[in-house]
Amino acid sequence: MKILLATKNRGKIRELNRLFADVEIEFVGVDVVENPPDVVEDGKTYHENALKKAMTYHNLSGLPTLAEDSGLEVEALEGAPGIYSSRYAGEKATDAENIKKLLKALENVPDEHRQARFVAVLCLVLDGKPYFFEGEVKGKILKEPEGTSGFGYDPVFCPQGFEHSFAVLGEEVKNRISHRARAIERLKEFLEKRLGKQ
Ligand code: IMP
Repeated sequence: MKILLATKNRGKIRELNRLFADVEIEFVGVDVVENPPDVVEDGKTYHENALKKAMTYHNLSGLPTLAEDSGLEVEALEGAPGIYSSRYAGEKATDAENIKKLLKALENVPDEHRQARFVAVLCLVLDGKPYFFEGEVKGKILKEPEGTSGFGYDPVFCPQGFEHSFAVLGEEVKNRISHRARAIERLKEFLEKRLGKQ
């Protein structure tokens, strides 16, 4: 089965192809569509954003299409930055600027109140019908960034049961326990069942 991945990020396409190496699925990028558009993420939830991206490309290509939306939710900030995670410090903010703003907002928050979670929502559109798969990983926000691996808020997010940030723990640990890995695991189970029935 061929699935269009509604992202322009080639790294994500490579990563998914690796995770699905044992299933008969090939992920292709948005360039199978002529003049692939940038989809504006103006939804109020991860689900709305993932659905909009997946449905847009499904309608253009006719192919089964997968999209993802994710974010960081901090308890002491009532769930912020949430769906605005990538633009927390401004429309074109860098990861470092977002982290700086987050640490400033949590400046006076003690260790025991720094709980947070990463959330990922995948939306697969098959024959015009959406299916959602969710994953989360709980943890806390550190007081200082540490490590260089990964992206986004990885240097300040310490997953539950560990003493260091994702950026220190590295890819191998992150790909086992992350929100994205968990959502992908659920998608994989769904696809394995579906392909088994064909
Ligand atoms: P989007 O789903 O591409 O809109 O990105 C959501 C944003 O959430 C990213 O730009 C990061 O700031 C943050 N984020 C989502 N997943 C992760 C992760 O695994 N590590 C660090 N930051 C993440």
